[in-house]
Amino acid sequence: MAVEDFFYDYVKNVVKYLNAFILQFRIQKNIEDTKMVKIIIDPKCSGCETCVNTCPVMVYETKDGKAVAVKAEECLVCRACEAQCPEGAIQIIE
Ligand code: SF4
Ligand code: SF4
Repeated sequence: MAVEDFFYDYVKNVVKYLNAFILQFRIQKNIEDTKMVKIIIDPKCSGCETCVNTCPVMVYETKDGKAVAVKAEECLVCRACEAQCPEGAIQIIE
């Protein structure tokens, strides 16, 4: 293999690993950002289960006739639950 080819392959691999590292860093940062989300459910919740059926990652369950965010750490901050809740009882705080 010519020296130029070797050098070209070397640079290509370095760029590839750097990209993988940056991607991993971004994913980790997104996970950490997501963990900071707070979900507040007002007592006026009627237990209609709209949020339970709307959330794409199944954050909610109902207990004793009220919604509970049992997996808040999974929240994607899509805000579908906030928009769909007929009582305006959900607040997503980043
Ligand atoms: S959509 Fe709103 S009112 Fe219905 S269960 Fe969820 S928080 Fe309660
Ligand atoms: S913002 Fe989206 S992902 Fe988060 S709890 Fe509401 S519906 Fe689920």
